[in-house]
Amino acid sequence: MEMDKDYERKCYELAYLIFPDVDETVDDLEIKYPERNELKQGAMVTRIAPSPTGMAHTGTLYQAMVDKKLANQSEGVFYVRIEDTDQKREVEGAVEEIMKGLEYFNLMPEEGVIGKDKEKGYYGPYTQSQRKEIYRVCAKHLVEIGRAYPCFCTPEMLQKTHDAQVANKIVPGYYGVYAKCRNRSIDEAIERVKNGEKFILRFRSNGSHLNKITFMDEARGKIEMAENDEDVVLIKSDGLPTYHFAHVCDDHFMHTTHVIRGEEWLPSVPKHIQLFEAMGFEAPHYVHTPSILIKDGDSKRKLSKRKDKIAAVAYFIKSGYPAEGVNEYLMTILNSDYEMWKSKNKDKTYKDFEFKMNKMSSAGSLLDIPKLNDLCKEEVAKLNSQELLDRVLTWSKEYSKDFYDILNRDLEYSKKVFGIERDNATKIRKDIYKWEDVEETFRYFFDDIYAKELETNRIISTLTEDKATLTPEVMKNVLDKYSKEYNENDTKDEWFARMKEVAQNLGFCVNMKEYKANPENFVGSIADFSSIIRVAVTNKKNTPDIYEIMQLLGRGRTISRMEDTIAKL
Ligand code: GLU
Repeated sequence: MEMDKDYERKCYELAYLIFPDVDETVDDLEIKYPERNELKQGAMVTRIAPSPTGMAHTGTLYQAMVDKKLANQSEGVFYVRIEDTDQKREVEGAVEEIMKGLEYFNLMPEEGVIGKDKEKGYYGPYTQSQRKEIYRVCAKHLVEIGRAYPCFCTPEMLQKTHDAQVANKIVPGYYGVYAKCRNRSIDEAIERVKNGEKFILRFRSNGSHLNKITFMDEARGKIEMAENDEDVVLIKSDGLPTYHFAHVCDDHFMHTTHVIRGEEWLPSVPKHIQLFEAMGFEAPHYVHTPSILIKDGDSKRKLSKRKDKIAAVAYFIKSGYPAEGVNEYLMTILNSDYEMWKSKNKDKTYKDFEFKMNKMSSAGSLLDIPKLNDLCKEEVAKLNSQELLDRVLTWSKEYSKDFYDILNRDLEYSKKVFGIERDNATKIRKDIYKWEDVEETFRYFFDDIYAKELETNRIISTLTEDKATLTPEVMKNVLDKYSKEYNENDTKDEWFARMKEVAQNLGFCVNMKEYKANPENFVGSIADFSSIIRVAVTNKKNTPDIYEIMQLLGRGRTISRMEDTIAKL
């Protein structure tokens, strides 16, 4: 826009009237926040920019994975900025929750906000409410060059215009002839500001919705959209910037190379490109991540904060999901190449994988919970007993204090419990996918938990429901005879031979084939026999190897559990 000298002078006057105390200029800021020259060519600077307006969302985690991955693999920087310009919606503790999630999932940033009121790096402050002066400097510049103006419209007036537009089937918004204050003379604007009238600051768009613009989305390719013609708000009545304006100022002065954000921001790109241009800044690369979808019956829908507990990062932490399992899973839904790569590189992790932005899906990423759980099982299976114990201790200390105390009573014993079918096993048991389930899986090893459970749910009688021949009398007899014969010094083979002998003497068939051919000839099979022992000793139908369990429980507890069951049958 060519400005005549008089108009130009008035713009400066208006800018001064609005920002009398702003002495710094955009150039000063450029010197204060110089290019990141220490980074090598091609290094990517990425960030997450969460708003502390509620729980930490799984979507933020998912984005942080991409951000950190891209920054690390290009030897760049991943930082965190807190976007707290919507102070009415701010939630106490939200920043801490975000940081806790990043820490838990090994996604801590190299720069920016690293805790409540804690940050590091030269491009701060990294919390928007503390960057007011920077936005004011930039806004003042836009007023000076005639690209921003004060808007005196009240919310009621705006609503009225909006309603009239809707009623007349006109695209709603503050643009063109509907932008009342845009069309006021600068003299009137100066006058009204001088008179102390309330106003907000708007951008003066130079676009037309009849024009098209194209830009590249690194995940989606070339995108064409209508040019922006809206005079978006830059500074709100509370003196804080809108997302649009803060995004432009912050990502410029923090030298973000790639803005990776949710696809809900895609329609705003034309606004942002125009704002970057007006400020004389180079726009960053954009990557819009697809929404996370979830199955709901036969259809798919967006992960919902209200409906899905899995939408909260805190849910994963509280339930004790292993971070590495969740990370691996998120990478599979983030990059279509990942699973293939992983199948060829079984010993490597997502950290070794080269992430390509153009392999991101744009159609939405389905969060398949059973698959997530399976991947977590795989990761838990890689831990040895000591590692598993350490992880469960860390988790239970915060989320299951009773279990934590029980584990601590005898750490050597707890380690042995976790070592069953794990340490030195040829086939590792894959039954745990989150720490919350560990107590349930191993509860019978810990007498207090086991005793409490028996009071409310002793399941031995359900064996009779499963198979009528296993009457209480039969079961009592099995436990009585077997407990007398049990020898804790037996090797596994000896133990099994002895069990078969007792079983046979009591009319059980020790050969499964033979049993299946003529079940009516027997009280039950050897599997039924060992079920009775298993349930008496553990109160569970499925457990790891019962020989190992009895060894670990020791003779005293093994026998007394059988006797106790006889008394209760
Ligand atoms: N505060 C914005 C949000 O939470 C950030 C979007 C962005 O990453 O630029 O949606």
